[in-house]
Amino acid sequence: MKRIIYIPFDHLHRKYGALKDADPKDDLIVLVESARMTTGRNWHKERLFFLISSARHFAEFLEEEGFTVEYLKAATTVAGLEEVQKKYPKLPIICAEPSSFRQFEALKAHGVTFIENDFFLTPRPLFQSWAADQKNYLMENFYRKQRTRLNVLMEGSEPVGGSWNFDKENRLPPPKKYEGPKYLDHKRDEIDNQVAIEISHKPTSTWATTRRGALAQLKNFIKNHFAEFGPLEDAMTTDNWALHHSLLSPYLNNGLLHPSEVIKAGVQAFNTGAIPIESAEGFIRQVIGWREYVNGMYWFLGPDYRDNNQLNATRKLLPLFSDPDKTQMNCIKQTVTDINDRAWVHHIPRLMLLSNLALITGTNPQEFLEWMREVFIDASEWVMVPNVIGMGVHADGGTMMTKPYAAGGAYISRMSNYCKPCVYDPKLRVGEKACPFTTLYWDFLDRHKAAFVKNHRMSQQIFGLNRLSDLPQLKVRATDVLEGLEAGTI
Ligand SMILES: Cc1cc2nc3c(=O)[nH]c(=O)nc-3n(C[C@H](O)[C@H](O)[C@H](O)COP(=O)(O)OP(=O)(O)OC[C@H]3O[C@@H](n4cnc5c(N)ncnc54)[C@H](O)[C@@H]3O)c2cc1C
Ligand code: SF4
Repeated sequence: MKRIIYIPFDHLHRKYGALKDADPKDDLIVLVESARMTTGRNWHKERLFFLISSARHFAEFLEEEGFTVEYLKAATTVAGLEEVQKKYPKLPIICAEPSSFRQFEALKAHGVTFIENDFFLTPRPLFQSWAADQKNYLMENFYRKQRTRLNVLMEGSEPVGGSWNFDKENRLPPPKKYEGPKYLDHKRDEIDNQVAIEISHKPTSTWATTRRGALAQLKNFIKNHFAEFGPLEDAMTTDNWALHHSLLSPYLNNGLLHPSEVIKAGVQAFNTGAIPIESAEGFIRQVIGWREYVNGMYWFLGPDYRDNNQLNATRKLLPLFSDPDKTQMNCIKQTVTDINDRAWVHHIPRLMLLSNLALITGTNPQEFLEWMREVFIDASEWVMVPNVIGMGVHADGGTMMTKPYAAGGAYISRMSNYCKPCVYDPKLRVGEKACPFTTLYWDFLDRHKAAFVKNHRMSQQIFGLNRLSDLPQLKVRATDVLEGLEAGTI
């Protein structure tokens, strides 16, 4: 053996990272199931199951190819590497650049040699040079550059369809009683069953744990959901938990799929003429735009960015985040139940329900971030930190987003079927039946008026606030709502 190749649990692809030029004759493969990762926190069991079982399947796949694989359980990744080094002394350790600051530092200190992380479409230095030239870091500007650079949905230098953005055609509310095509079920095998026993979990059939399953998920999305992705991408309904979202984030994030494979499949389908441009563009924007932008910003903004709390939000995490019985708000009850069931909800519940609630209640950003990290199937440090701190709760004072994503019940009522059976009324801001979102939205604006009045993108909201005739009653109701949320009775 000439080298040790260390494979983190989010680098599970044979053709990328340190494995792309690996040879069974020369390379010893090491994977470490660290106790820090498995028992260090209150992880959602479905998430833990997915990550561990995917890694064990991947180790088996490499063994079948002829590699010698050391799959270890250890207290930490470095402790695991040290154990292997006792058995194979003096071999250099190679790894693709890790996906978090913490792992990067730990492996660097252990003397690991890094090769470029190519699990994204944008090399880190390229993003750094884009960001360094920007006055503000608008995703839209980055996205247009990506379309041109990667030559995706382009006709020469112009975007296909004559526009960079088809949001006007998208963002429709959910149709009534919308079922849509069935989602894929993934069968469990021996490895899955063994992991399930070890972590005392009864897994769903929602998430694949193999490359084959991830590819089947991609195929299913392209065939059955891609064409309708765009118009319903922001809708929420209790009739269908995923609508036409791809459910690909876990595999993109743990390496079972590479973004170039997803883009290739999407562009091929679009070129057959079967996919409307608003769906094709909407989906491509997520993958080559948002995903790449968020990863780039994580590395650009640095390790301290996650500690931002520029709105001085100090409230402790509300009990409803971990127990749906601790609220009467139908939208939150349903969303937290969905998360408990399968560790996933799409981007609008994450942004406009969960983060919006944390934002307008003044919940401490780091407590909220830690909860989000623990409960989502696709959560990783690089993706959660910018999405939560920058986009979700505006804790960075506007570095990433020019204004906070705060909204009252009217938005949720328009985009979902949650409100009709709810005990609260999205139109009311005062009184016992007032929707907590509606009351707290205005209360939030009022609490931060001095800061927001300087932001011209907030002028309409501040104008609305100044016209409220019932602000004194609203402040009383807001106090009651916040107390009730803390007590788990609202
Ligand atoms: C507050 C908040 C927290 C989030 N946390 C995560 C997270 O921990 N992990 C994660 O992968 N995504 C996160 N997202 C982004 C997005 O919600 C999920 O990627 C998406 O819901 C995953 O489901 P899907 O694969 O069906 O996505 P689709 O709607 O089908 O989108 C396709 C792909 O685009 C990518 N994508 C879209 N938006 C984003 C984004 N904002 N950031 C990064 N990638 C994006 C994902 O890879 C996704 O698979 C978060 C968004 C918000 C607002
Ligand atoms: S009325 Fe308010 S709390 Fe109830 S479901 Fe609608 S937005 Fe949620």
